[in-house]
Amino acid sequence: MEKEVRDKYEAVIGLEVHAQMLTKTKAYSNDVNEYGAQVNTNISAITLGHPGTLPKMNSKTIDFAIRLGIACGCTIAREQHFARKNYFYPDLPKGYQITQDTTPICTGGSIVIRTEENQEKKINITRIHMEEDAGKSIHDVDVYDTLVDLNRAGTPLLEIVSEPEMRSSQEAYNYVSEIRKLVRYLDICDGNMEEGSLRCDANISVRIKGQDAFGTKVEVKNMNSIRNVQRAIEFEITRQIEVLESGGQLSQETRGFDALKGITISMRSKEAANDYRYFPEPDLQPLFIKQEQIDEIKMDMPTLPRALFEKYTKEFGLSEYDAYNLTDNKGIAMYYEELIRHTKNYKAAANWIMGDIKSYLNEFGKEIDEFPLKAERITSLIKLIDEGKISSSIASQKIFPEMLKSEEPAFLIAERLNLFQDSSEDTLKNFILQVFEENKTEVERYKAGDKQLTGFFMGKLMQISYGKADPKIANSLLRQMLEQ
Ligand code: ADP
Ligand code: MG
Repeated sequence: MEKEVRDKYEAVIGLEVHAQMLTKTKAYSNDVNEYGAQVNTNISAITLGHPGTLPKMNSKTIDFAIRLGIACGCTIAREQHFARKNYFYPDLPKGYQITQDTTPICTGGSIVIRTEENQEKKINITRIHMEEDAGKSIHDVDVYDTLVDLNRAGTPLLEIVSEPEMRSSQEAYNYVSEIRKLVRYLDICDGNMEEGSLRCDANISVRIKGQDAFGTKVEVKNMNSIRNVQRAIEFEITRQIEVLESGGQLSQETRGFDALKGITISMRSKEAANDYRYFPEPDLQPLFIKQEQIDEIKMDMPTLPRALFEKYTKEFGLSEYDAYNLTDNKGIAMYYEELIRHTKNYKAAANWIMGDIKSYLNEFGKEIDEFPLKAERITSLIKLIDEGKISSSIASQKIFPEMLKSEEPAFLIAERLNLFQDSSEDTLKNFILQVFEENKTEVERYKAGDKQLTGFFMGKLMQISYGKADPKIANSLLRQMLEQ
C-alpha cells in the first residue's frame, strides 16, 4: 500500500488476553490442571458436567486474580457474582462456562508499555475477570474426525480486557509482551503462547486520522505467538484500509489468522454471533473479599519488573537499555539480584550477564536457571578484575570457559594457567623491547613525529603479552621508552 494512503489512517486496537492460571487443580474441581497429560484423564464427573455434580471454588484462583489486579493498580471488587455463559459446543460438556459477567474481580488499572518512540504509554484495563476454560477440539490429528480432549475443560483463566488504546501492531506486541512478563513475575501463568496458556484476541478498527468516532471493529483469533498477534494486526489494518479506500464497508465480524499464509479469514459475522444468555450461576455463592485478604496478598507480592527497572536505572545508574534487558526475563533479573548481593560493581555484573552468560545460554539453548555457575563464582571473577589482578579479556576468554568445566575457583585457574597481569617493570620492558624490535619502521615513524602510533604499539604489546600486561602501567612505560 502506498505510504500516502496508509498515513491517512490510524489504527485502533483493543486486546482480550486469556491467561491460564498455574494452579495445581482446576477452577471448580480437584482435577489436576496440567498441560500435556494423557488426553481425557483429568476429567472427573464435575468436569464432565454430569447431572447432580456441583462446582467448588478453588480459592487459589482468587488469590492469583488479586495478585494481578494489585500489580496493575486495579480496583478489586469486594462482592462478586458468578454467571453462566451458555452455548453448545462438543468440547463444552456442561453446555456453559462459569464466568464473571457483571462483577469482574478487577476493574481499572493499566499496563505500561513503550511506544515506538521509546516513550512510556499507559494502556488502561477495562476489566479482569475469572472464568473456566473449555476443552480442546483437535482437528489436525485425525483426517476424518474432530477429536475432543477435555483435560483443559474447567481449568482457570484470567481474562484481561484492554481499552481500545493501542495505535499500532508494535504497541500491541509490546502490550502482550508486558503482560507475559508480568504474569511470569507473579507466578500466576507460565505465559506460553505456543501451548495456549496465554492467548490473545485482537480487536482492530481503522479511522481517518483526526476523526473521533471509532470505525467498525473486527476481532481476530488464533494467534499462537506474540509475533503472530502483530502480523495478524498488521494484515488486518492494511485489509481494512483497502476495503475503505475502494469504497467498500467493513462488517463487524470474527476472523481467524492463518499463520502460514499470513492472512486473516472470516469465521463468522456479527449476525451469526452467539447470544450467550448470561444468567447468575445458581451453584456458586457470591464471593465476598475482605480487605485483610487483599492486604495479605499485597505484603506477599514479588518484586515487579517495573520496580527493578527503576532501581537499576535510578539507584545503580545503569542505562535504560541495560535495565530493560536485565528485567525482561524474571530468571535473568533474579540472577542479577543474586550477583549484586556479592558485588557493588553493578555495571560489571550487568555486562557479565548480557555478554558471556547470555552467549553461553544462547549457544547451548539453555535458560538462566540451567546456568551452572553460582553467582559468587562470577563475582569472584569481577573482583579479580577490579583488583587489577587479571584483565577482563583474560577473564572472559580464558577463565570463564575453564570455570564452566569444573568447580575450580577463578583465582586458582588464573594461577594454574599463569594468567595474572604482570606489571613488573622488567617483564613489561622486555615485552616493549620485543615490540620495538619487530616493528622498526613504525618506531622510526614515531620518532619522526607520528605520535598516533602509540595505539599500534599498545596493540602489539597486548598481543605478545597475551593480555597479561596491565594496560595502564604498560601504556605509561611504553610512552617513556618511545621518548627516550
Ligand atoms: P464485544 O462486546 O464485541 O466483546 P467489547 O466492547 O467487549 O466488544 O470490547 C472488546 C474489546 O474490543 C475490548 O478490548 C475493546 O477495547 C475493543 N474495542 C472496542 N471497540 C473497538 C474498536 N472500535 N476498535 C478496536 N477495538 C475495539
Ligand atoms: Mg467482549
